[in-house]
Amino acid sequence: MISDMFKTDMCNIKNYINNAYNNVPFYQKFYSDIDIDKIVDYDSFRQLPILNKSQLQDSNSSYISKLYNINDLRIGRTSGSTGRILSIYWDKFEFFKSNKELWRYRNQFYGITAADKLLTFHPYLNRDKDIFNPKISLQNNSILSMSLVDLNSINFEFYYEKMLEFEPVWILGTASALFLFSKYIKDNNLKTPRSIKYIELMGEYLSESYRKFIRETFNVPIANQYGSRETNAIGIECQYGNMHHMNKNILVEILNDNDNPVCDGEEGNIIITNMMNNAMPLIRYRLGDRGKYIENNDCKCCSNRPILQITAGRVTDRVILENRDPINAVVFWYVIEKINLKYNLTILQFQVIQESLHLFSLKLSIKDETLENIIVKDFYKEIGVYNLNDKIDWEISFVNEIPFDTKTSKLKYFICKI
Ligand SMILES: [Zn+2]
Repeated sequence: MISDMFKTDMCNIKNYINNAYNNVPFYQKFYSDIDIDKIVDYDSFRQLPILNKSQLQDSNSSYISKLYNINDLRIGRTSGSTGRILSIYWDKFEFFKSNKELWRYRNQFYGITAADKLLTFHPYLNRDKDIFNPKISLQNNSILSMSLVDLNSINFEFYYEKMLEFEPVWILGTASALFLFSKYIKDNNLKTPRSIKYIELMGEYLSESYRKFIRETFNVPIANQYGSRETNAIGIECQYGNMHHMNKNILVEILNDNDNPVCDGEEGNIIITNMMNNAMPLIRYRLGDRGKYIENNDCKCCSNRPILQITAGRVTDRVILENRDPINAVVFWYVIEKINLKYNLTILQFQVIQESLHLFSLKLSIKDETLENIIVKDFYKEIGVYNLNDKIDWEISFVNEIPFDTKTSKLKYFICKI
């Protein structure tokens, strides 16, 4: 599929690479052994080396194009491979433009426009500066944003009242935040505003039970959106549940562990080239996610864009085990999901911390305290399926709540301290 994109868009791709090579000091060095004039198709494009997050962190401002003044650029931050913060610079106009396709699809699939009232959530700390965000903020009476740190049993009622008053048309947030809010609404037999037409989830693993629960609470379509701070949105689900790779200016390659293209339908590492950003070009950049392309056999939504399927769990979320290959931490989601379906979604939040090779701790926030013992029993049984109780000690504790990460606004379900 990627080779088709090269056939139709080779001229733009070539310009983008030339621009990066001529104006970005990092690429001049990085491609010093390559004759970039000979890049004429996907095969020759593949001689460009893969760019890893660690390389970006090490080369500082040398990856900014000389055509831009760094002080005029917009900075977005993301966590790098070692947990250090990585800055992504954008030209303000290009940043705005990079969201255009997403808006087009939101409108086409769900009838949402930028003028519609949005309810969303924000982290405690402002991303760019160390400014503490207020509990609630209202911009131009069109965006109501609630602080995630305060999304807890003390404030649910306040937030709920604010939502009713505001009458949003759509909601944008992470699955864990929307699930907690939905649980409060359903457990208290409250009504949701009729104004709400659509919910978009992003930035976190979306389990089927969370999706179903949120959909049933609000009774509106739910779409999962896939993107990154490096690129903004890459894909969005249509009303038929297929995630379309919507932006042809973000090239997506799916490569195996030897960096060779996989066959269509096969899973691999996601490598992007972000032609939306000329200020800080990212060419053949390893995002750290895994996924696959699925053939788009006339999706009923009528979009002819390819279908992406993103594998749960980031490549870096690895559980380190003795005498075994590491496994992806998403298994903890599978275990919790299985228990949760059995007990009416009583587990509101969870977090696993790998303290050492042989010691893990599990924090659980549950609704029904009488289920504590049985949940512990079930957990040991389910975790045994993955051999994660063999020579491993688990410290299990029940807590009132697990705070959201103040910088990323996500709930970290797995932390590895090794
Ligand atoms: Zn579709």
